[in-house]
Amino acid sequence: MNLKDKTVAIIDDDAGTLKLLGDILKNEGFRVRQFNNGAFALRSIEADLPEIILLDMCMPIMNGIEICKELKQNPKIRHVPVIFITGLHEMEYKIKGFQVGGADYITKPFQKQEVIARVKVHIALHCSFEKIKRISEELEKNKKKLEIAQKIAQLGHWEWNTKTDEIELSDGINHILGLNNNLKKITLEQFIQFIHTDDKIRVLENMRKVVPVDECDSICDNCISDDLCHFECEYRIILPNGETRIIQSKGKYLNSQNTNHTVVGTVQDETVEFTRIKMLGIAQDITRQKELELKLEEQATTDFLTGCYNRRRFLEFVQNGFDLFSRYSDEMSLLMLDLDLFKNVNDTYGHAVGDLVLIKLVEICQAELRNTDIVGRYGGEEFVVMLPKTSNVQAFELAERLCKVIANTKIITSNIRFNFTTSIGLSTLKSTDKNVDNFIKRADEALYQAKHSGRNCVVNSG
Ligand code: GH3
Ligand code: MG
Ligand code: MG
Repeated sequence: MNLKDKTVAIIDDDAGTLKLLGDILKNEGFRVRQFNNGAFALRSIEADLPEIILLDMCMPIMNGIEICKELKQNPKIRHVPVIFITGLHEMEYKIKGFQVGGADYITKPFQKQEVIARVKVHIALHCSFEKIKRISEELEKNKKKLEIAQKIAQLGHWEWNTKTDEIELSDGINHILGLNNNLKKITLEQFIQFIHTDDKIRVLENMRKVVPVDECDSICDNCISDDLCHFECEYRIILPNGETRIIQSKGKYLNSQNTNHTVVGTVQDETVEFTRIKMLGIAQDITRQKELELKLEEQATTDFLTGCYNRRRFLEFVQNGFDLFSRYSDEMSLLMLDLDLFKNVNDTYGHAVGDLVLIKLVEICQAELRNTDIVGRYGGEEFVVMLPKTSNVQAFELAERLCKVIANTKIITSNIRFNFTTSIGLSTLKSTDKNVDNFIKRADEALYQAKHSGRNCVVNSG
């Protein structure tokens, strides 16, 4: 402790005591300010705060108790420790001194070493207190910042004690779970209640897999390796109001072995054991993000006008179907449809009515086909239908029916009524097909023939 930086204020009406105490402390290296008048001392101290105040208990006009009361009422000064100077037999005053906020007392006649020791101890305590206060304020500020940051990120954190299966929840988690900050702690069982039934087992497995085996007493490299101590999973939770949220949870087993060794020294094992039964984690509400992802995915795979799959996505389905066929000899057929003389529809009724025809065609297909059949838009007015587990005979029957239903459907608007027709080419996957190209090509060629056979018909390439 550098005593030159430490100021001691002495308030005493007795010039002899003031000088004696002042000399003792100056010789020790302290900066000393002396006052023989309480009222003046109060004003002066506020302007230049000392680290400690030595205050005479008995003074005329304003005694030590009154001055101390005033000091302790002043928010700027109240934290500065006050040591009373008392006579040997002033027991009642000594007690009163503590009651009004005094930190200690020194009894006259002084023992030089005792004065120095008491002043030093209280200055050290005061400095430590100030330091702790600064750190707490800093911590509080950081905690607030973290809370705001977590709120912005829709994050919350939890701490799971894997021994007691209690989970501490931050305000953020309470908010995500719709709990209005009421719960600070819940059991693992209560937490599981929030999880969607279909996700429960998976989440539990994920959480449990990062907990080292109970019997493992000492921290081993395996237990603290990042891979084993870390989990990350996405799941759905059901809020008390019935709403579903998608949550991403990340957790890490606490293994701050080194830090704990350093900080707690001899209680090291207990601390290590303690930290080893805890897991820290975060949970993030990603419902909106997921909805956006699904929307983008949908936009990237569907046809904007008709709502059926686009060419790219359709071809992925065909490829998957082909893979299943290669593995399990699953039958599969393909229809390729092209509207007949569609250019005339546009030319006669306008493009908007043409669009209605395209939408109607897809509606008919979806109504006539099974749920497992897949409709895609292959080009402008050309559509494809994938028929999984469908033989050539079955597919032909279906195509003929479809052709008839389409031809019998009327487009009706306020001032127009007309029918439209479609030509259809059919192909069925063969064991000689090495990939999907020939399969698609055969349907395309069959469609070409259908057009040349007068349209509004089905041609089967076999
Ligand atoms: P065919 O029977 O030989 O197939 O005759 P077609 O008139 O149907 O064939 P063609 O290829 O000459 O014309 C196709 C028309 O389809 C031309 C094009 O403007 C129209 N078309 C393509 N996509 C759309 C669309 O999204 N909306 C509308 N309204 N028309 C489209
Ligand atoms: Mg056409
Ligand atoms: Mg065409």
